[in-house]
Amino acid sequence: MTPTPGLHVRAACRTLLNALQAAALAPQCVACHQPLEHPLLGPVCQTCWASLTHLIAPACDRCGAPLPSAAVRASAPDVAVRCSECERHERAIGRTRAALEYVGALRPIIHAFKFEARESLAVPLGARLRDCGGDLLAGAACTVPVPLHLWRRVSRGFNQAERLAHELGLPVVGALWRPHQTAPQSGLHADARQVNMRGAVAAAPWLRHAVRARYLEGQAVVLVDDVRTTGATLEACAVALKALGVQEVRALTVARTSAPVR
Ligand SMILES: [Zn+2]
Ligand SMILES: [Zn+2]
Repeated sequence: MTPTPGLHVRAACRTLLNALQAAALAPQCVACHQPLEHPLLGPVCQTCWASLTHLIAPACDRCGAPLPSAAVRASAPDVAVRCSECERHERAIGRTRAALEYVGALRPIIHAFKFEARESLAVPLGARLRDCGGDLLAGAACTVPVPLHLWRRVSRGFNQAERLAHELGLPVVGALWRPHQTAPQSGLHADARQVNMRGAVAAAPWLRHAVRARYLEGQAVVLVDDVRTTGATLEACAVALKALGVQEVRALTVARTSAPVR
C-alpha cells in the first residue's frame, strides 16, 4: 500500500523533532563529537581539554621553536637561548611563546572558535595563554591583537585574537590594521608567507596620538594571536609596532605549528 502524503509529512516532522531534541539535550564536544557530560562548562569535553599537548621548555626565546635540551644545558642559565635561525636573522620580535602544540583536539577546538562562532572558547584558551605567558605579560604596557582584514572580520563577526587579548588582564590596543586583502597564508611556504605579508600590516588610521604615547612609545607590548605557523604575520605586526615607537615586541599565541594552518 502506498503511504499518503500526510504520513510522509508526519514522519519528516518526527525526524526533525528528534534531531532538534538530540541537539538540544545532548550537545556534542566540538573536538571528539561525543555527548558532553557537562554542557554548561562549554563546548569541549574534559577529556579533550586534558589531551592537549603543552609546549614546555626548552624553546628558542625569540621564536618559540623547540630546542634540543643539550643546547640549553650548554648555555648559561640566565642567557636567553636562541635557535640557529634566530641567531642568523635580525627579527623585530624580541620574544615568542606558545601555550600548546597545534595537534590533536586543539585543531577542531580552534576551528570551532574561529569559524563556528564559538566565541566563548576565548575564556579557556585565554586562561592557557595567561598560564604560559605570565613572564611575557609582566611589565608590558598593553596587548595588541593581530588584526584581520576588515572584510574577514565582518564575515567572521569578530577577531579571535582580540577576544583572546581581552582575557589577558592588560589594556587591549587595536594599534594595527590590514589595509588590503592578502592571499590566505594557508598552503604557502615560509618564504612565500613572508613575501605575502610584506606591507600587509600598518598602523591603524584610528590610532589616537594619546593612546600611542601612553601604551606604545618606548613600551614593551605583547602581540596576541591564536596560531603561529611560520611567524611571518607576527613579524609583520612587530615591524609595524616598531615603526610606532614600541621598544620591545613580545608575542603570545595559543598554539604553534610548523604545518600549514587550514
Ligand atoms: Zn571531546
Ligand atoms: Zn628561534
